[in-house]
Amino acid sequence: PLTSNDLIEEHRICVCVRARPLNKKELTTKDLEVITIPSKDVVMVHEPKQKVDLTRYLENQTFRFDYAFDECSTNEMIYRFTAQPLVETIFERGMATCFAYGQTGSGKTHTMGGDFSGKNQDCAKGIYALSARDVFVMIKKPNYKKLDLQIFATFFEIYSGKVFDLLNRKTKLRVLEDGKQQVQVVGLQEKEVKCTEDVLKLIEIGNSCRTSGQTSANAHSSRSHAVFQIILRRRGKMHGKFSLIDLAGNERGADTSSADRQTRLEGAEINKSLLALKECIRALGRNKPHTPFRASKLTQVLRDSFIGENSRTCMIATISPGMASCENTLNTLRYANRVK
Ligand code: ADP
Ligand code: MG
Repeated sequence: PLTSNDLIEEHRICVCVRARPLNKKELTTKDLEVITIPSKDVVMVHEPKQKVDLTRYLENQTFRFDYAFDECSTNEMIYRFTAQPLVETIFERGMATCFAYGQTGSGKTHTMGGDFSGKNQDCAKGIYALSARDVFVMIKKPNYKKLDLQIFATFFEIYSGKVFDLLNRKTKLRVLEDGKQQVQVVGLQEKEVKCTEDVLKLIEIGNSCRTSGQTSANAHSSRSHAVFQIILRRRGKMHGKFSLIDLAGNERGADTSSADRQTRLEGAEINKSLLALKECIRALGRNKPHTPFRASKLTQVLRDSFIGENSRTCMIATISPGMASCENTLNTLRYANRVK
């Protein structure tokens, strides 16, 4: 397993991959694994070890990332190598972002929001809660304590190019850009938080708000981006911001040929935002003139997190291990590869 010595310090963009275990459905349908993680930074996509007649030919492909995590990895471990090194950034007046990218069902929400359905609440914590925990540890350190910082949280969702406040009954919000290209989400609730428990409560409120009125939790969440932010303020002024994003499922390409107009539009919007995101991450901190921040609501809202001198980001690409997901998995790995 990875150790502290493996931690890559000091780079602006960290890209890693996390494979989840085969789930019940995949086991029932006898889906076969096509993913192997032979070392701490390599992902291999290959034919199933156990060949069956129906196995189609799959060319072996190898991808290299900053880190690769197999199905035995825990949220805590993923956190240590991705978001945790970025917590300090926001105390040093920087902007940090952490994205979970992948197809629906590959483990984005499990990684970011955690999984509170089981008994063991401790290992249930996701990157949102773990980051918050460490923000409260960091703020007590003498260096930062003397800054007298206040901590706030926001939680919103971007669905079909519109912004909804998950901490305020899904109120639809406007996004305004002033002459200096400062972007503002008008009326977004910023709740002050004093401890990790406060944050957990907000996550719960936001999550239940996210899925309320939906026939199935995944049907809706797979089509929207969820953005959870931890904001540090000093005498009211922003000091640093950490944006943690559970992206919409990236498999929506197929929707662009759907018979249903709404579904088609949603699919097109998601594709557009994920393409813009890739370009914006690639331009991170360089303030290149043609970076397409305005090409999607997601990148427009995150603009200030990409342009700063002290901006850092990490992407966790989540993949399903089965052959049935192979196309989507390859698309995810190629995208993650391009982000670097
Ligand atoms: P997504 O948000 O990408 O659509 P989810 O996070 O909802 O996917 O995961 C789909 C299902 O798989 C959930 O039931 C979740 O608990 C389970 N799951 C995801 N990742 C893991 C993992 N690393 N270990 C165990 N179960 C996982
Ligand atoms: Mg999800």
